[in-house]
Amino acid sequence: MSPKRNGNRAVNKTSKANGSLRKIAKSTKRPAAGKRTVSKTSKTKGLETMIAESTTPSAAADKTKHTRNIAWDQYFMGVALISAKRSKDPNTQVGACIVNSKKRIVGVGYNGMPDKGILHNDVKFPWTKEPGYQKNKHLYVCHAEMNAIINKMDADIQDCTLYTTLYPCHECSKLMIQSGIKKVVYLDIKDRDTDEDAASRFLLQMANIKIKKYQRKGNMESLIEALEKL
Ligand SMILES: [Zn+2]
Repeated sequence: MSPKRNGNRAVNKTSKANGSLRKIAKSTKRPAAGKRTVSKTSKTKGLETMIAESTTPSAAADKTKHTRNIAWDQYFMGVALISAKRSKDPNTQVGACIVNSKKRIVGVGYNGMPDKGILHNDVKFPWTKEPGYQKNKHLYVCHAEMNAIINKMDADIQDCTLYTTLYPCHECSKLMIQSGIKKVVYLDIKDRDTDEDAASRFLLQMANIKIKKYQRKGNMESLIEALEKL
């Protein structure tokens, strides 16, 4: 008798204990589950609201309030201009920026002396325009367009646009043609009647490279002016 009773008692005790454990488990689970459901619902509602708002005309109208954002041309010419400021040329600082068809920058450069394997290149080469190999910078300087092409981050720059702060010279025009550049946007041009400049225009024309003068207008103008004064 006693073992049976004990056994029954033991069973009863266990089932009671299980019952109370289940109650505890239920009481602790419910709020947690409830909380999850509430947060999930509110998140979903939030997303739905965001999606709905982004497609309504009122949201589109609100976007027009951001009048200070700049156009692509301004953005890329701005990158070319800020790159030019790295140049140590005492007379002409030029910057260039190569952009692919997805509006991604794939190369930047500025005019400077060759530097691969040359320590203190800025003082070892001359910066004057005087004749003689020890004085004439034109014999050594790498132009911004050349550096942008060499520094390219993409193996293929076919059909890219090159933004430059100065109309490309004939040497850079040759490089651009051979790299597959299809459009050039320039900021300034030196009004010179030289064979080199004529050759540059002729080269770009022969290769059907589209040439566009950057239009100085809009809210970027003040930034350009500020950068040019640096
Ligand atoms: Zn050049």
